[in-house]
Amino acid sequence: MNILFLGAPGCGKGTQSKIIIKKYNIPQISTGDLLRSEIKSESSLGNEIKDIMASGKFVSDDLVLSLVSKKIEQDECKNGFILDGYPRNIAQAESLDTLLGEKNIELEHVFLIDVPTETLIKRCTGRLVCNNCGYIGNTDRGENPNDNCSQCSSGKLTQREDDKEETVRNRLKVFDEQTAPIISFYSEKNILHKLIGGDDPSVLSNKITEILKA
Ligand code: AMP
Repeated sequence: MNILFLGAPGCGKGTQSKIIIKKYNIPQISTGDLLRSEIKSESSLGNEIKDIMASGKFVSDDLVLSLVSKKIEQDECKNGFILDGYPRNIAQAESLDTLLGEKNIELEHVFLIDVPTETLIKRCTGRLVCNNCGYIGNTDRGENPNDNCSQCSSGKLTQREDDKEETVRNRLKVFDEQTAPIISFYSEKNILHKLIGGDDPSVLSNKITEILKA
C-alpha cells in the first residue's frame, strides 16, 4: 500500500501517518523529519539547510528527491510506505512520478486534509514535539514547552523553530502558492480523496481506514 498525505502545515498529516504506521505496519517517509534529523546530527547538509528550514522556505527539489529515493529503496518500504510532506510542488510531483515509474511502484491513494487557516495557525503555534520519540503534543491539550514527554518519558516537549507564528504564516503562503497546484495533478489521476480535518484525529483516521479497506 503506497499512500500520500497532502495538506497545509498543521493539517494533521503527521498524526494520521503515525496512526497508519501502527495499523498497517508500513513506514512513513516524512521529508520534514528526514531534514530535521540531518540538522540534529549537525552534518554539513544539516548546517546548510538549517536557516532555510527555520525561515519556512523549501529546500531544493534535488535534495528532497535524493532523500526520498534512498528511503524508498530500503527493505522496510517493500510492502508500502506513507509519503508525508513530499511532493510539495509540481516539479517534485513530476519527479516522484518518474521515480515510482522507474521502480514499477504505484501510488494508490492521495489524501488531502483540508483544515481552516485559523485552525492551522493555532495548531502549529501550539504544537510541541518530543525531542526523543517524535510524539506530537499541543498546548491546547494542557501540555507545555519543556514538559517531560507523556509517551516515552525520557524526552522533552519543544516548539519547532518554524512553528513560530510569523513563520507559520509564511509556510501557509508557500503552501498556497506552490503545493496547492499539485491537488489537481493528483485529482486528474483519480487517486485523490479530499477529507475535512480539524476534528478529533480518530474521526479522520476512521474515514481513511474505510477508504483503504474499500
Ligand atoms: P514539515 O515537517 O513537513 O512541515 O516540513 C518542515 C520544513 O522542511 C518545510 O517548511 C521545508 O523547509 C522543509 N521541507 C520538508 N519537505 C520538503 C519538500 N518536499 N520540499 C522542500 N522542502 C521541504
